[in-house]
Amino acid sequence: MIRKLADNLYTFRINFKKSPLGWLNCYVIKGSKGGRDLLVDSGFNTPQCLKDLKDGMAELELKPENTDVFFTHAHFDHIGNANALQEMGCRLFISRLDYEFYCAAPWEKQVANSCKDGVPEELREFMSDRKGVPGDFRPVMLEEGDILNYGGYALRCILTPGHTPGHFCLYEPKDKLMLTGDHVLFDISPNITYIEGKDMLEDYLGSLEKISHFEVDMALPGHRGTGGKSFRSRVQELLRHHEARLREAERVVAAGDHMCAYEAAAHMSWSIRAKSWEDFPISQKWYATGETLAHLVYLHTHGRLVNYTDDRGLSEFRSV
Ligand SMILES: [Zn+2]
Repeated sequence: MIRKLADNLYTFRINFKKSPLGWLNCYVIKGSKGGRDLLVDSGFNTPQCLKDLKDGMAELELKPENTDVFFTHAHFDHIGNANALQEMGCRLFISRLDYEFYCAAPWEKQVANSCKDGVPEELREFMSDRKGVPGDFRPVMLEEGDILNYGGYALRCILTPGHTPGHFCLYEPKDKLMLTGDHVLFDISPNITYIEGKDMLEDYLGSLEKISHFEVDMALPGHRGTGGKSFRSRVQELLRHHEARLREAERVVAAGDHMCAYEAAAHMSWSIRAKSWEDFPISQKWYATGETLAHLVYLHTHGRLVNYTDDRGLSEFRSV
């Protein structure tokens, strides 16, 4: 079902059957006076997502050869149908940083490296099956500050690393409109990706601080709704959330002698409908481990935890 949000601005859902995210909000800006149309994000590379995407495009009378597609970031639930859209004749746009990062660090390598964080083989095998890496399509690369003009909107690319290294929000100052991608979600906290050699939580918190200064009347998140919350109050809430999670991670590590990220994740609290860590859907164990590791790395780089490699090659954390 299509919803009109403002002049020339529409949204429809791409439903996820298995992900707790529920659905992706696909946004469309119809070009004025015969100009090109813009579509934002595309869902997973699954038949259901592709059907929802094509149905929404048909209902909005988007012609692929007249449609530009912008990806807020290079995660599977956003770029999953990039190849299909390219084959249909759409022009694709993505942040150079995200594209280059995910091309240089292919998914298989990231998954294989996670054995040092204690991720068991069964989970690594499950995750290595994911499809839709950026290298499969050829986008136009965008930089911070680039402006996308469609349907009377001038949307500026705001670099907000943290959820991914090159995540973009789009900001339109005239209408005080922010497409937040997965940088700010309202009834779920965005997952912080762990990336080797980087402190992604530090980047994420910096990006929250950065966008907290924008005046936003309409926030358009990548998943779910806003629940009536203001953009500014949600940004503050997310900052507080991570402060609390950092303290929790410190306590979890202090309670054990030493811990790798996978073990620590099993001891953190998660708002998920699973009775115990054993009952977690397998893919959620992966994201929980990455999220925990991002917090552990932040605590290490800020001198609040010690990180070392043990004689089995595991990356372990312990209290200072
Ligand atoms: Zn997402």
